[in-house]
Amino acid sequence: MKNEIKVFCPATIANISCGFDVLGVALDNVGDEMVVKKTSKKGITITKIEGQNLPLQTHKNVAGVAGLALLSASDYEGGFEIEIYKKIKAGSGIGSSAASSTGAVCAMNKLLGEPFSNLELVQFAMKGEELASGVQHADNVAPAIYGGFTLVRSYSPLDIIKINTPKKLYATVIHPQIEIKTSDSRKILKTTISLADGIKQWGNVGGLIAGLYTEDYDLISRSLEDHIIEPIRSILIPAFDNVKSASLNAGALGCGISGSGPSIYALSKGKETAEKVAQAMQNIYNKVGIPYDIHVSTVNTEGIKTIS
Ligand code: ADP
Repeated sequence: MKNEIKVFCPATIANISCGFDVLGVALDNVGDEMVVKKTSKKGITITKIEGQNLPLQTHKNVAGVAGLALLSASDYEGGFEIEIYKKIKAGSGIGSSAASSTGAVCAMNKLLGEPFSNLELVQFAMKGEELASGVQHADNVAPAIYGGFTLVRSYSPLDIIKINTPKKLYATVIHPQIEIKTSDSRKILKTTISLADGIKQWGNVGGLIAGLYTEDYDLISRSLEDHIIEPIRSILIPAFDNVKSASLNAGALGCGISGSGPSIYALSKGKETAEKVAQAMQNIYNKVGIPYDIHVSTVNTEGIKTIS
């Protein structure tokens, strides 16, 4: 069995339009890398973080907290050392914390001979998410671990379903370089919704799931709507409405807020359209004058990948 492993930890889009808190998807060419080594010293030691200024202390880093949750459920007597190579910016809305917490627990599980199921790994990684945002949400960590689209059908008991990924689906994500705290974007949400809004939302969730399984791109497009969260949260994101309409005009199937923002995502059929959407998004942000990162990616159906 290996003593050291290097993994790719994918970025993820959570809160996919109608699927607030329940639907997420993993990306293929945006993500961090992590090296995890077995050590005789007990516990978790984070020895290096490159690319971002994040805490090295085990209890303050999501990789450490998620790793400790796994260790406490394991009969392994030793510990682990972790090196984190961050490419996803923290607070971007594309699952920066989830990439680290899932990368840590999946790498450790592999080094221990895979004693834990994906569902158990999600539960360990959720402890990391709790450190990052105060809430044990699973909609970023589930797709990072299972790959593809995932539905968190229930939190109690935790029930995660991996959904089919249509072959030609591409994601475009623009990350404006502004900070929106997850806690702030949660605070502005109402805690109740009307029955009429509920009916629209669960109709769309059902439609989206059916569209993903049957690879019906028109149905996916019709279902990528959010009447509850997006109208409230989008006011925190400069030029959101313009980016959305430009993306749809460029041919996107749908467009919405990624996670709790500020990133905006669009899904498209085919790479060419996804690239046109990227150009349309950039044209808007070039006028707004806020710096941004932009990504075009296929869906990662594998989740955390072993590099070496
Ligand atoms: P995102 O919006 O990209 O999903 P989050 O808001 O979930 O990012 O997480 C970012 C928060 O988690 C920041 O406060 C950051 O300091 C904290 N954090 C702790 N450890 C890590 C880590 N290894 N990677 C990313 N963020 C981390």
